Amino acid sequence: MRLHWHRHDLRVTDNWGLSAADDVVLPVFVFDDEILQFGSPPRVAFMLDALAALRADYREQGGDLYLAHGDPSAVLPDLATEVGAATLSYTEDYSGLAAERDRVVTEALDSEGITVEGYHDALHHEPGSITTNAGDPYSVYTYFWTKWRNREKADPYDPPEQVVDRPGDALPALADLGFDEPVADIEPAGTGRARERLADFCAGPIYDYADRRDYPADECTSRLSTHLRWGTIGVREVYAATDRAMADAPDADARESVEAFQSQLAWREFYHHVLNFTPEVVTQNYKSYEQAIEWRDDQAEIAAWKAGETGYPIVDAGMRQLREEAYMHNRVRMIVASFLTKDLLADWRHGYAHFREHLVDHNTANDNGGWQWAASTGTDAQPYFRIFNPTTQGERYDPDAAYIHEYVPELAGVSAETIHAWPDLSPSERRDATPDYPDPIVDHGERREQAVTMFKRARGEDPDE
Ligand SMILES: Cc1cc2nc3c(=O)[nH]c(=O)nc-3n(C[C@H](O)[C@H](O)[C@H](O)COP(=O)(O)OP(=O)(O)OC[C@H]3O[C@@H](n4cnc5c(N)ncnc54)[C@H](O)[C@@H]3O)c2cc1C
Repeated sequence: MRLHWHRHDLRVTDNWGLSAADDVVLPVFVFDDEILQFGSPPRVAFMLDALAALRADYREQGGDLYLAHGDPSAVLPDLATEVGAATLSYTEDYSGLAAERDRVVTEALDSEGITVEGYHDALHHEPGSITTNAGDPYSVYTYFWTKWRNREKADPYDPPEQVVDRPGDALPALADLGFDEPVADIEPAGTGRARERLADFCAGPIYDYADRRDYPADECTSRLSTHLRWGTIGVREVYAATDRAMADAPDADARESVEAFQSQLAWREFYHHVLNFTPEVVTQNYKSYEQAIEWRDDQAEIAAWKAGETGYPIVDAGMRQLREEAYMHNRVRMIVASFLTKDLLADWRHGYAHFREHLVDHNTANDNGGWQWAASTGTDAQPYFRIFNPTTQGERYDPDAAYIHEYVPELAGVSAETIHAWPDLSPSERRDATPDYPDPIVDHGERREQAVTMFKRARGEDPDE
């Protein structure tokens, strides 16, 4: 018999480690306080829902998911010995914290004579398999993408055939794990839901993805990020669906659009490689500057950003979407991240910590990659002098202000034209439009210059040149 230790691979199908060998499997999940202390209400709520769905999927096959609480380095060897398991399999994790946990667990199992097998199941191509010709990890996405795209992808794995019916502990509620109910409405979990999302997306929106993905009111993206984060769907199953969509694409534009989507899947893998090879990015800049960046870190401004009360409508709409749905559209994530770092001159780590707490799809690799990109400190980062203008971004990507109207009720009765002119209006014009929405907390033009100066100093350049 074999134990399969589920962590962020909460599904039965297309799970390499689970189906790797043709033997009897006891699937197990361990609630580990060491890891849970880094959880947040939306993420843990989704995880519990995903575990309930996983358990139901196993039960449908006549098996069960064994649930336990405690330190995995004690729980797993005890369980393996009790049931006579010779092997334990799991899906590899690429963050430093998880790697340390896995090292300790592996040692404990080794000392009991139990073989440990880690599977690179969460990515198509594991860290170290796509490198420069010199064998180094890529720090530029475009080259990584070319190789990633041309590499053959594995087919989805079948579910395991023989699963043990041994339930263990009851599934806890959020409160049992010490978490409050999330404020936001959380995406339902489970493989069934993920497949529904994938099928709906591949039936139409994928063909317009390239043109429409930047428009937050359009809602044409896949919304698979939380499912990919918890592994409620396998990467091979997702890719196979995009391949079928490619084969069915009506024309060259549609094919290009499918490829644009596949390239987003590759960004996810790129950032996981970056995290794997440079785990220090979680707390440090990826790109080093000659001098420390002198972030301003004004606490009142950061608080206004978190509350969605900056007086920049597209920024506030994004921050409110985050609070209400534990999710934010990608283009808007880029805008709010640029605003925090380049308009408020606040350290990206404040934004990363806030996203980590509130995003249901938070994963270290993508979240960190996104923040460091916006802050001009990451791989392939936005050049420090190319600073988003939040007003023109709102005008371009939310021209009718439909997204802003949805998330900022104070602006519901205000025309798109007035909304997109908000920072340029006089205070009395703003009060006439609505007394309820704040004035801009900063002047974008002034802050833009200050940001450029801040980065020039960090680069050791004379800011006046
Ligand atoms: C500041 C910032 C923080 C971010 N934090 C996260 C995070 O914590 N978790 C997360 O999954 N994504 C994060 N992203 C990337 C992106 O915003 C989300 O993946 C995307 O909005 C999720 O919606 P979707 O599933 O509909 O995406 P789609 O557009 O349908 O993309 C499909 C999948 O590709 C991957 N993907 C898409 N865009 C990116 C990207 N820029 N980088 C890496 N992978 C990508 C995701 O897995 C996504 O589910 C962040 C981006 C920024 C700018």
